Amino acid sequence: MHTKTIKELSDLLQAKKISATELSKLFLDRIKASDLNAFLHVDETLTLQQAAAADQRIAAGDATILTGVPIAHKDIFVTRGWRSTAGSKMLENYVSPFDATVVENFNQAGMVTLGKLNCDEFAMGSSNENSYFGAVKNPWDKTAIPGGSSGGSAAAIAARLTPASTATDTGGSIRQPAALCGVTGIKPTYGRVSRFGMIAFASSLDQGGPIAKTAEDCGLLLNAMAGFDERDSTSIERAKEDFTRDLNVPLQGLKIGIPREYFGAGLSADVEQAVRAALAEYEKLGATLVDISLPKTELSIPTYYVIAPAEASSNLSRFDGVRYGFRAKDYTDLSDMYCKTRAQGFGDEVKRRILVGAYVLSHGYYDAYYLQAQKIRRLIAQDFQEAFKKCDVIMGPVAPTVAWDLGDKADDPIANYLADIFTLSTSLAGLPGMSIPCGFGQGEKNAKRPVGLQIIGNYFAEAKLLNVAHQYQQATDWHLRQPAE
Ligand code: GLN
Repeated sequence: MHTKTIKELSDLLQAKKISATELSKLFLDRIKASDLNAFLHVDETLTLQQAAAADQRIAAGDATILTGVPIAHKDIFVTRGWRSTAGSKMLENYVSPFDATVVENFNQAGMVTLGKLNCDEFAMGSSNENSYFGAVKNPWDKTAIPGGSSGGSAAAIAARLTPASTATDTGGSIRQPAALCGVTGIKPTYGRVSRFGMIAFASSLDQGGPIAKTAEDCGLLLNAMAGFDERDSTSIERAKEDFTRDLNVPLQGLKIGIPREYFGAGLSADVEQAVRAALAEYEKLGATLVDISLPKTELSIPTYYVIAPAEASSNLSRFDGVRYGFRAKDYTDLSDMYCKTRAQGFGDEVKRRILVGAYVLSHGYYDAYYLQAQKIRRLIAQDFQEAFKKCDVIMGPVAPTVAWDLGDKADDPIANYLADIFTLSTSLAGLPGMSIPCGFGQGEKNAKRPVGLQIIGNYFAEAKLLNVAHQYQQATDWHLRQPAE
Protein backbone atom coordinates (compact mmCIF):
# COMPACT_ATOMS: atom_id res chain seq x y z
CA MET A 1 0.00 0.00 0.00
CA HIS A 2 2.81 2.43 0.93
CA THR A 3 4.32 2.18 -2.56
CA LYS A 4 1.19 3.36 -4.34
CA THR A 5 0.87 6.71 -6.04
CA ILE A 6 -1.61 9.37 -4.93
CA LYS A 7 -3.72 8.55 -7.96
CA GLU A 8 -3.84 4.86 -7.01
CA LEU A 9 -4.57 5.59 -3.34
CA SER A 10 -7.33 7.97 -4.34
CA ASP A 11 -8.99 5.29 -6.46
CA LEU A 12 -8.81 2.79 -3.57
CA LEU A 13 -10.24 5.32 -1.11
CA GLN A 14 -13.14 6.26 -3.37
CA ALA A 15 -13.88 2.58 -4.02
CA LYS A 16 -13.81 2.08 -0.21
CA LYS A 17 -11.15 -0.65 -0.54
CA ILE A 18 -9.25 1.13 2.24
CA SER A 19 -10.24 3.88 4.66
CA ALA A 20 -8.39 7.11 5.31
CA THR A 21 -7.99 5.99 8.91
CA GLU A 22 -6.34 2.69 7.93
CA LEU A 23 -4.12 4.49 5.47
CA SER A 24 -2.91 7.12 7.90
CA LYS A 25 -2.26 4.47 10.59
CA LEU A 26 -0.19 2.53 8.11
CA PHE A 27 1.98 5.55 7.32
CA LEU A 28 2.23 6.62 10.97
CA ASP A 29 3.59 3.14 11.75
CA ARG A 30 6.16 3.45 8.99
CA ILE A 31 7.18 6.88 10.30
CA LYS A 32 7.58 5.48 13.82
CA ALA A 33 9.79 2.67 12.57
CA SER A 34 12.00 4.94 10.45
CA ASP A 35 15.47 6.08 11.57
CA LEU A 36 15.96 8.78 8.90
CA ASN A 37 15.09 11.78 11.11
CA ALA A 38 12.81 13.00 8.32
CA PHE A 39 9.89 13.84 10.62
CA LEU A 40 10.15 16.43 13.38
CA HIS A 41 6.62 16.48 14.78
CA VAL A 42 3.97 13.78 14.68
CA ASP A 43 0.66 13.87 16.54
CA GLU A 44 -1.31 10.69 16.09
CA THR A 45 -4.49 12.09 17.66
CA LEU A 46 -4.65 15.08 15.31
CA THR A 47 -3.89 12.92 12.28
CA LEU A 48 -6.57 10.39 13.14
CA GLN A 49 -9.11 13.19 13.67
CA GLN A 50 -8.43 14.45 10.16
CA ALA A 51 -8.61 10.90 8.81
CA ALA A 52 -12.00 10.31 10.47
CA ALA A 53 -13.29 13.53 8.91
CA ALA A 54 -12.00 12.39 5.52
CA ASP A 55 -13.76 9.04 5.89
CA GLN A 56 -16.99 10.87 6.64
CA ARG A 57 -16.59 13.00 3.54
CA ILE A 58 -15.99 9.95 1.40
CA ALA A 59 -19.03 8.22 2.90
CA ALA A 60 -21.13 11.32 2.22
CA GLY A 61 -20.02 11.43 -1.41
CA ASP A 62 -18.38 14.81 -0.83
CA ALA A 63 -14.78 13.83 -1.55
CA THR A 64 -12.22 15.47 -3.83
CA ILE A 65 -9.59 13.37 -5.58
CA LEU A 66 -7.21 14.09 -2.67
CA THR A 67 -9.59 13.37 0.21
CA GLY A 68 -8.13 10.85 2.62
CA VAL A 69 -4.69 10.85 1.01
CA PRO A 70 -1.92 11.48 3.57
CA ILE A 71 0.50 14.40 3.23
CA ALA A 72 3.34 15.80 5.33
CA HIS A 73 4.46 19.42 5.40
CA LYS A 74 7.93 20.92 5.40
CA ASP A 75 8.37 22.55 8.77
CA ILE A 76 8.50 25.94 7.06
CA PHE A 77 4.72 25.95 6.59
CA VAL A 78 2.94 26.90 9.77
CA THR A 79 0.30 24.52 11.04
CA ARG A 80 -2.24 24.76 13.80
CA GLY A 81 -1.64 21.88 16.18
CA TRP A 82 1.73 20.63 15.01
CA ARG A 83 4.70 22.76 16.05
CA SER A 84 6.29 24.95 13.36
CA THR A 85 10.03 25.31 13.91
CA ALA A 86 11.65 26.06 10.54
CA GLY A 87 14.38 23.69 11.72
CA SER A 88 15.51 26.32 14.24
CA LYS A 89 16.08 26.46 17.97
CA MET A 90 14.53 29.93 17.70
CA LEU A 91 11.11 28.34 17.11
CA GLU A 92 11.66 25.05 18.94
CA ASN A 93 8.37 25.25 20.84
CA TYR A 94 6.40 27.52 18.54
CA VAL A 95 2.81 26.59 17.74
CA SER A 96 1.12 28.77 15.15
CA PRO A 97 -2.39 30.07 15.82
CA PHE A 98 -3.24 29.64 12.12
CA ASP A 99 -2.51 27.43 9.11
CA ALA A 100 -0.45 28.53 6.10
CA THR A 101 -2.62 29.00 3.01
CA VAL A 102 -0.99 25.94 1.44
CA VAL A 103 -1.88 23.85 4.49
CA GLU A 104 -5.39 25.27 4.49
CA ASN A 105 -5.77 24.40 0.80
CA PHE A 106 -4.80 20.78 1.40
CA ASN A 107 -7.02 20.59 4.48
CA GLN A 108 -9.94 21.84 2.43
CA ALA A 109 -9.25 19.19 -0.19
CA GLY A 110 -9.53 16.63 2.63
CA MET A 111 -5.91 15.52 2.79
CA VAL A 112 -4.71 14.04 6.07
CA THR A 113 -1.63 15.62 7.68
CA LEU A 114 0.91 13.07 8.94
CA GLY A 115 3.21 15.62 10.54
CA LYS A 116 6.03 18.05 9.89
CA LEU A 117 9.22 17.43 7.97
CA ASN A 118 12.80 18.26 8.88
CA CYS A 119 14.63 20.92 6.88
CA ASP A 120 17.65 23.19 7.00
CA GLU A 121 17.25 26.04 9.46
CA PHE A 122 15.01 28.67 7.84
CA ALA A 123 15.51 26.73 4.57
CA MET A 124 19.15 27.80 4.31
CA GLY A 125 21.25 24.96 3.01
CA SER A 126 21.76 22.23 0.45
CA SER A 127 22.31 19.20 2.67
CA ASN A 128 19.81 19.42 5.54
CA GLU A 129 22.79 19.45 7.91
CA ASN A 130 21.90 22.97 9.06
CA SER A 131 18.81 21.77 10.92
CA TYR A 132 18.93 22.40 14.67
CA PHE A 133 17.24 19.00 14.99
CA GLY A 134 19.99 17.11 13.21
CA ALA A 135 20.58 15.99 9.65
CA VAL A 136 18.22 13.76 7.67
CA LYS A 137 19.68 10.57 6.23
CA ASN A 138 19.31 9.73 2.55
CA PRO A 139 17.14 6.58 2.37
CA TRP A 140 19.22 5.25 -0.55
CA ASP A 141 22.39 5.35 1.50
CA LYS A 142 22.18 6.38 5.11
CA THR A 143 25.73 7.71 5.07
CA ALA A 144 24.72 10.31 2.46
CA ILE A 145 22.96 13.68 2.74
CA PRO A 146 19.40 13.84 1.34
CA GLY A 147 19.96 17.29 -0.17
CA GLY A 148 18.41 20.45 1.16
CA SER A 149 16.84 22.45 2.32
CA SER A 150 13.74 20.23 1.89
CA GLY A 151 15.70 17.10 2.85
CA GLY A 152 12.92 15.71 5.03
CA SER A 153 10.31 16.25 2.29
CA ALA A 154 12.32 14.34 -0.32
CA ALA A 155 13.63 11.59 1.97
CA ALA A 156 10.13 10.89 3.30
CA ILE A 157 8.81 10.34 -0.24
CA ALA A 158 11.77 8.15 -1.23
CA ALA A 159 11.36 6.01 1.90
CA ARG A 160 7.60 5.77 1.30
CA LEU A 161 6.80 7.38 4.67
CA THR A 162 4.20 9.57 2.96
CA PRO A 163 2.79 9.61 -0.58
CA ALA A 164 2.87 13.43 -0.73
CA SER A 165 4.89 16.21 0.80
CA THR A 166 5.20 19.96 0.57
CA ALA A 167 8.52 21.74 0.13
CA THR A 168 9.86 25.19 -0.63
CA ASP A 169 12.43 26.33 -3.15
CA THR A 170 14.36 29.58 -2.79
CA GLY A 171 17.38 28.56 -4.83
CA GLY A 172 16.82 24.87 -5.49
CA SER A 173 15.41 23.35 -2.33
CA ILE A 174 12.64 21.41 -4.04
CA ARG A 175 14.62 20.28 -7.08
CA GLN A 176 17.95 19.38 -5.49
CA PRO A 177 16.71 17.15 -2.65
CA ALA A 178 14.20 15.56 -5.07
CA ALA A 179 17.13 14.77 -7.36
CA LEU A 180 19.39 13.41 -4.65
CA CYS A 181 16.60 11.22 -3.22
CA GLY A 182 15.30 9.95 -6.58
CA VAL A 183 11.82 11.49 -6.39
CA THR A 184 9.79 14.02 -8.40
CA GLY A 185 9.36 17.66 -7.41
CA ILE A 186 8.22 20.88 -9.03
CA LYS A 187 8.95 24.48 -8.15
CA PRO A 188 6.18 26.56 -9.72
CA THR A 189 6.48 30.00 -11.27
CA TYR A 190 7.11 32.60 -8.56
CA GLY A 191 3.75 33.83 -7.31
CA ARG A 192 1.75 30.70 -8.14
CA VAL A 193 1.72 29.31 -4.63
CA SER A 194 0.87 31.50 -1.66
CA ARG A 195 3.68 32.41 0.73
CA PHE A 196 1.23 33.25 3.49
CA GLY A 197 2.24 31.20 6.50
CA MET A 198 5.43 30.02 4.82
CA ILE A 199 8.17 31.15 7.22
CA ALA A 200 10.08 33.69 5.13
CA PHE A 201 13.71 33.30 4.04
CA ALA A 202 14.10 35.43 0.88
CA SER A 203 10.69 36.74 -0.09
CA SER A 204 11.41 37.54 -3.74
CA LEU A 205 12.60 33.96 -4.31
CA ASP A 206 10.68 31.70 -1.90
CA GLN A 207 8.16 29.46 -3.64
CA GLY A 208 6.30 26.42 -2.35
CA GLY A 209 5.71 23.28 -4.36
CA PRO A 210 4.98 19.56 -4.05
CA ILE A 211 7.25 16.51 -3.95
CA ALA A 212 5.82 13.07 -4.77
CA LYS A 213 6.74 9.94 -6.69
CA THR A 214 5.40 10.92 -10.10
CA ALA A 215 4.73 13.96 -12.24
CA GLU A 216 1.05 13.07 -12.31
CA ASP A 217 0.93 13.14 -8.50
CA CYS A 218 2.72 16.49 -8.46
CA GLY A 219 0.09 17.85 -10.85
CA LEU A 220 -2.76 16.65 -8.63
CA LEU A 221 -1.11 18.26 -5.60
CA LEU A 222 -0.39 21.51 -7.41
CA ASN A 223 -4.05 21.73 -8.42
CA ALA A 224 -4.95 22.08 -4.75
CA MET A 225 -1.85 23.98 -3.67
CA ALA A 226 -1.70 26.84 -6.20
CA GLY A 227 -4.02 29.80 -6.54
CA PHE A 228 -4.39 33.50 -5.84
CA ASP A 229 -4.23 34.54 -2.20
CA GLU A 230 -4.97 38.11 -1.21
CA ARG A 231 -2.94 37.60 1.98
CA ASP A 232 0.27 37.32 -0.09
CA SER A 233 1.07 40.58 -1.90
CA THR A 234 3.12 38.81 -4.57
CA SER A 235 0.51 36.14 -5.27
CA ILE A 236 -0.44 36.14 -8.93
CA GLU A 237 -4.04 36.73 -9.86
CA ARG A 238 -4.74 34.05 -12.44
CA ALA A 239 -7.66 31.73 -12.98
CA LYS A 240 -7.38 28.27 -11.41
CA GLU A 241 -6.10 25.70 -13.88
CA ASP A 242 -5.84 21.94 -14.13
CA PHE A 243 -2.13 21.22 -14.18
CA THR A 244 -2.76 17.63 -15.27
CA ARG A 245 -4.68 18.63 -18.40
CA ASP A 246 -1.77 18.05 -20.81
CA LEU A 247 -0.16 14.98 -19.23
CA ASN A 248 -0.83 12.77 -22.23
CA VAL A 249 0.19 15.14 -25.03
CA PRO A 250 2.80 13.36 -27.19
CA LEU A 251 6.25 14.95 -27.32
CA GLN A 252 6.65 14.78 -31.09
CA GLY A 253 8.29 18.02 -32.23
CA LEU A 254 9.18 19.22 -28.72
CA LYS A 255 12.29 21.38 -28.77
CA ILE A 256 14.55 20.84 -25.77
CA GLY A 257 17.19 23.48 -25.13
CA ILE A 258 20.49 22.12 -23.79
CA PRO A 259 22.46 24.90 -22.10
CA ARG A 260 26.19 24.57 -22.85
CA GLU A 261 26.98 26.05 -19.46
CA TYR A 262 25.27 23.15 -17.68
CA PHE A 263 27.62 20.55 -19.12
CA GLY A 264 31.02 22.11 -18.49
CA ALA A 265 33.73 21.59 -15.94
CA GLY A 266 32.38 20.78 -12.49
CA LEU A 267 29.72 18.38 -13.73
CA SER A 268 30.66 14.89 -12.58
CA ALA A 269 30.96 12.23 -15.27
CA ASP A 270 28.36 9.90 -13.79
CA VAL A 271 25.69 12.62 -13.49
CA GLU A 272 26.43 13.73 -17.04
CA GLN A 273 26.03 10.19 -18.34
CA ALA A 274 22.65 9.67 -16.65
CA VAL A 275 21.38 13.03 -17.88
CA ARG A 276 22.58 12.39 -21.45
CA ALA A 277 20.86 9.00 -21.41
CA ALA A 278 17.63 10.72 -20.38
CA LEU A 279 18.03 13.21 -23.23
CA ALA A 280 18.48 10.31 -25.66
CA GLU A 281 15.25 8.84 -24.32
CA TYR A 282 13.52 12.14 -25.07
CA GLU A 283 14.81 11.99 -28.63
CA LYS A 284 13.22 8.56 -28.92
CA LEU A 285 9.96 10.13 -27.73
CA GLY A 286 10.12 12.52 -30.69
CA ALA A 287 11.86 15.56 -29.20
CA THR A 288 14.81 17.39 -30.74
CA LEU A 289 17.74 18.76 -28.78
CA VAL A 290 18.78 22.34 -29.45
CA ASP A 291 22.05 23.88 -28.36
CA ILE A 292 21.44 27.00 -26.26
CA SER A 293 23.47 29.26 -24.03
CA LEU A 294 22.72 30.76 -20.63
CA PRO A 295 25.87 32.87 -20.44
CA LYS A 296 25.29 34.35 -16.98
CA THR A 297 24.98 30.98 -15.24
CA GLU A 298 28.27 31.43 -13.40
CA LEU A 299 27.12 34.74 -11.94
CA SER A 300 24.04 33.16 -10.41
CA ILE A 301 26.00 32.07 -7.34
CA PRO A 302 27.38 35.47 -6.29
CA THR A 303 24.10 37.14 -7.30
CA TYR A 304 21.96 34.77 -5.27
CA TYR A 305 24.29 34.83 -2.30
CA VAL A 306 23.95 38.62 -2.13
CA ILE A 307 20.19 38.90 -2.71
CA ALA A 308 19.03 35.94 -0.59
CA PRO A 309 21.04 36.94 2.51
CA ALA A 310 19.95 40.58 2.10
CA GLU A 311 16.30 39.56 2.22
CA ALA A 312 16.98 37.03 4.98
CA SER A 313 18.65 39.62 7.20
CA SER A 314 15.54 41.73 6.92
CA ASN A 315 13.02 38.87 7.31
CA LEU A 316 14.78 37.36 10.30
CA SER A 317 14.90 40.63 12.23
CA ARG A 318 11.51 39.66 13.68
CA PHE A 319 13.15 36.94 15.79
CA ASP A 320 14.15 39.19 18.65
CA GLY A 321 13.07 37.29 21.75
CA VAL A 322 10.00 39.49 22.13
CA ARG A 323 7.56 38.41 19.48
CA TYR A 324 8.21 34.75 18.77
CA GLY A 325 9.80 31.71 20.26
CA PHE A 326 13.11 31.52 22.05
CA ARG A 327 14.41 34.13 24.51
CA ALA A 328 17.81 33.93 26.22
CA LYS A 329 17.64 33.44 29.97
CA ASP A 330 20.26 35.72 31.50
CA TYR A 331 20.57 39.27 30.20
CA THR A 332 21.25 42.68 31.66
CA ASP A 333 19.09 44.97 29.52
CA LEU A 334 16.99 44.99 26.35
CA SER A 335 19.91 45.23 23.98
CA ASP A 336 21.73 42.41 25.76
CA MET A 337 18.53 40.32 25.54
CA TYR A 338 18.37 40.83 21.74
CA CYS A 339 22.02 39.92 21.31
CA LYS A 340 21.97 36.83 23.48
CA THR A 341 18.66 35.61 22.07
CA ARG A 342 19.92 35.83 18.50
CA ALA A 343 23.38 34.51 19.33
CA GLN A 344 21.93 31.45 21.06
CA GLY A 345 18.81 30.97 18.94
CA PHE A 346 20.30 30.95 15.43
CA GLY A 347 22.73 28.41 13.98
CA ASP A 348 26.00 29.29 12.21
CA GLU A 349 24.69 29.37 8.64
CA VAL A 350 21.77 31.61 9.56
CA LYS A 351 24.10 34.00 11.37
CA ARG A 352 26.46 34.00 8.40
CA ARG A 353 23.61 35.04 6.10
CA ILE A 354 22.35 37.74 8.46
CA LEU A 355 25.87 39.19 8.60
CA VAL A 356 26.35 39.08 4.82
CA GLY A 357 22.87 40.49 4.27
CA ALA A 358 23.32 43.37 6.68
CA TYR A 359 26.69 44.12 5.09
CA VAL A 360 25.52 44.23 1.46
CA LEU A 361 22.58 46.46 2.42
CA SER A 362 24.63 48.87 4.47
CA HIS A 363 25.45 52.43 3.46
CA GLY A 364 28.44 52.45 1.13
CA TYR A 365 28.07 48.82 0.05
CA TYR A 366 24.48 48.87 -1.16
CA ASP A 367 25.43 50.18 -4.60
CA ALA A 368 28.48 47.99 -4.93
CA TYR A 369 26.81 44.70 -4.01
CA TYR A 370 23.04 44.73 -3.64
CA LEU A 371 22.23 46.98 -6.56
CA GLN A 372 24.73 45.22 -8.82
CA ALA A 373 23.22 41.88 -7.90
CA GLN A 374 19.74 43.15 -8.79
CA LYS A 375 21.01 44.23 -12.21
CA ILE A 376 22.61 40.86 -12.87
CA ARG A 377 19.41 39.18 -11.73
CA ARG A 378 17.60 40.96 -14.55
CA LEU A 379 20.25 39.85 -17.07
CA ILE A 380 19.92 36.24 -15.90
CA ALA A 381 16.16 36.43 -16.51
CA GLN A 382 16.83 37.87 -19.98
CA ASP A 383 19.16 34.96 -20.81
CA PHE A 384 16.24 32.61 -20.34
CA GLN A 385 13.94 34.68 -22.55
CA GLU A 386 16.54 34.58 -25.33
CA ALA A 387 16.81 30.81 -24.89
CA PHE A 388 13.06 30.26 -25.00
CA LYS A 389 13.00 31.80 -28.49
CA LYS A 390 14.75 28.61 -29.61
CA CYS A 391 13.15 25.92 -27.46
CA ASP A 392 10.04 24.88 -25.52
CA VAL A 393 11.75 23.61 -22.39
CA ILE A 394 15.31 23.53 -21.09
CA MET A 395 16.95 20.41 -19.67
CA GLY A 396 20.09 19.66 -17.77
CA PRO A 397 21.39 18.30 -14.49
CA VAL A 398 19.89 19.46 -11.18
CA ALA A 399 23.11 19.17 -9.24
CA PRO A 400 26.73 18.69 -10.31
CA THR A 401 27.15 15.45 -8.31
CA VAL A 402 25.10 12.76 -6.64
CA ALA A 403 24.52 13.10 -2.87
CA TRP A 404 27.73 13.54 -0.93
CA ASP A 405 28.62 11.94 2.40
CA LEU A 406 27.09 13.32 5.59
CA GLY A 407 29.68 15.60 7.18
CA ASP A 408 31.71 15.96 4.00
CA LYS A 409 30.98 19.63 3.32
CA ALA A 410 29.46 20.47 6.68
CA ASP A 411 32.19 22.97 7.56
CA ASP A 412 32.57 24.40 4.08
CA PRO A 413 29.79 26.86 3.19
CA ILE A 414 31.36 27.76 -0.17
CA ALA A 415 31.38 24.12 -1.28
CA ASN A 416 27.66 23.97 -0.42
CA TYR A 417 26.95 27.17 -2.35
CA LEU A 418 28.75 25.87 -5.44
CA ALA A 419 26.50 22.80 -5.49
CA ASP A 420 23.56 25.16 -6.28
CA ILE A 421 25.00 26.25 -9.65
CA PHE A 422 22.27 24.66 -11.82
CA THR A 423 19.25 25.62 -9.75
CA LEU A 424 19.84 29.23 -8.67
CA SER A 425 19.29 31.00 -11.99
CA THR A 426 15.80 29.52 -12.43
CA SER A 427 14.88 30.87 -9.00
CA LEU A 428 16.41 34.28 -9.68
CA ALA A 429 14.37 34.47 -12.89
CA GLY A 430 11.19 33.26 -11.12
CA LEU A 431 10.72 30.43 -13.62
CA PRO A 432 9.16 27.02 -12.96
CA GLY A 433 11.50 24.06 -12.77
CA MET A 434 11.27 20.43 -11.87
CA SER A 435 13.37 17.42 -11.08
CA ILE A 436 12.62 13.86 -12.10
CA PRO A 437 14.67 10.75 -11.34
CA CYS A 438 16.74 9.61 -14.34
CA GLY A 439 19.31 7.14 -13.06
CA PHE A 440 22.09 6.58 -10.57
CA GLY A 441 25.73 7.48 -10.16
CA GLN A 442 28.60 5.12 -10.87
CA GLY A 443 31.26 3.38 -8.87
CA GLU A 444 30.90 1.37 -5.69
CA LYS A 445 29.58 4.24 -3.60
CA ASN A 446 27.62 6.32 -6.10
CA ALA A 447 25.84 3.45 -7.84
CA LYS A 448 23.07 3.57 -5.25
CA ARG A 449 22.81 7.38 -5.18
CA PRO A 450 20.14 8.83 -7.54
CA VAL A 451 20.53 11.41 -10.30
CA GLY A 452 17.84 13.94 -11.23
CA LEU A 453 17.02 15.52 -14.57
CA GLN A 454 16.07 19.18 -14.42
CA ILE A 455 13.31 20.50 -16.68
CA ILE A 456 12.86 24.28 -16.81
CA GLY A 457 9.95 26.04 -18.49
CA ASN A 458 8.89 29.56 -19.26
CA TYR A 459 6.55 31.44 -16.89
CA PHE A 460 3.32 29.55 -16.15
CA ALA A 461 4.43 26.50 -18.15
CA GLU A 462 3.85 24.06 -15.26
CA ALA A 463 1.33 22.00 -17.24
CA LYS A 464 3.90 21.65 -20.02
CA LEU A 465 6.67 20.61 -17.60
CA LEU A 466 4.42 18.01 -16.03
CA ASN A 467 3.50 16.73 -19.49
CA VAL A 468 7.17 16.45 -20.49
CA ALA A 469 7.98 14.67 -17.21
CA HIS A 470 4.96 12.36 -17.37
CA GLN A 471 5.76 11.17 -20.89
CA TYR A 472 9.27 10.21 -19.76
CA GLN A 473 7.84 8.42 -16.73
CA GLN A 474 5.51 6.44 -19.00
CA ALA A 475 8.56 5.25 -20.94
CA THR A 476 10.98 4.61 -18.05
CA ASP A 477 10.79 3.26 -14.52
CA TRP A 478 13.36 5.32 -12.56
CA HIS A 479 10.55 6.98 -10.61
CA LEU A 480 9.32 3.57 -9.43
CA ARG A 481 12.66 2.48 -7.99
CA GLN A 482 12.81 2.56 -4.25
CA PRO A 483 15.52 2.12 -1.65
CA ALA A 484 15.94 -1.21 0.12
CA GLU A 485 14.21 -1.30 3.51
N1 GLN B 1 20.89 25.96 -1.16
C1 GLN B 1 20.32 27.24 -1.30
C2 GLN B 1 20.57 28.05 -0.05
O1 GLN B 1 21.23 27.57 0.81
C3 GLN B 1 18.87 27.16 -1.61
C4 GLN B 1 18.01 26.92 -0.43
C5 GLN B 1 16.55 26.95 -0.75
O2 GLN B 1 16.15 26.83 -1.90
N2 GLN B 1 15.75 27.12 0.28
O3 GLN B 1 20.16 29.15 0.08
